[in-house]
Amino acid sequence: MGYNRTVNQTSARLLVVSAPGASNWLKTIPSLPSHVLTDNHYQLAMRLRLGLPAFNIMRQHCGACNSSITNDPWHYLSCVQRRKNELNMRHDQVNRALALYTLHAGCVARLEPSSLSDENRLRPDLQLIMDQFNKLIDVTIVHPTCPSHIKQAQTQLKTAKYACDQKIQKYSNLAQQQSADFIPFAIESYGGLSESASSLINEIAVFATEHLSAWSKEEIMTDLTSSIACAVQRGNAIAALSGYSACATSA
Ligand SMILES: [Zn+2]
Repeated sequence: MGYNRTVNQTSARLLVVSAPGASNWLKTIPSLPSHVLTDNHYQLAMRLRLGLPAFNIMRQHCGACNSSITNDPWHYLSCVQRRKNELNMRHDQVNRALALYTLHAGCVARLEPSSLSDENRLRPDLQLIMDQFNKLIDVTIVHPTCPSHIKQAQTQLKTAKYACDQKIQKYSNLAQQQSADFIPFAIESYGGLSESASSLINEIAVFATEHLSAWSKEEIMTDLTSSIACAVQRGNAIAALSGYSACATSA
């Protein structure tokens, strides 16, 4: 790995691991099944955080897209050929956690609402009705230390912010047609939460208190952030494990 590349990787990593939300998985108490990481997944999450490769012995190229892994040891968190596999499940687990806790808080939630637009088949991840507010949510998880993001990752949460801006552009017409607010829910692979994601979590927690939910504001905050944080790290680990085993058979 070249000197500059190593410096860029390290400076980006130090920023991403200190971003708001990036240590949520470390602070999680495994009080619910969704808050548990297996030993193996926990180790991989820690290796990512510490800037270590997923495994001590690594292949040089990705078996799916043939990119060099030498300079991008967590390639399977962004591989274009494989991201539709385990990374989609990581996304879905986050989306389900969000839907579950919004229901606990007393909001009305609809997963992947269809037929919102007559022009195209655009479908956000979640629709929330919170009293008079109609909110469309789209979850996106980005890997800030991959080669294409490493430059913007020199600013904290810029990768998440950029992903939010892209989603806002994609959904602006639909939100307007529906008289809805569009909220991008971007998370970085290291756990950092975009401002819009943090404020939605807070809003859901406040909603619980205001609507006399059986769950307190603090419970919703803690359990929702913990299950999202664990879902991201679990998803990373599953993607890395299956990426490397697929790589081993096809390389
Ligand atoms: Zn690849």
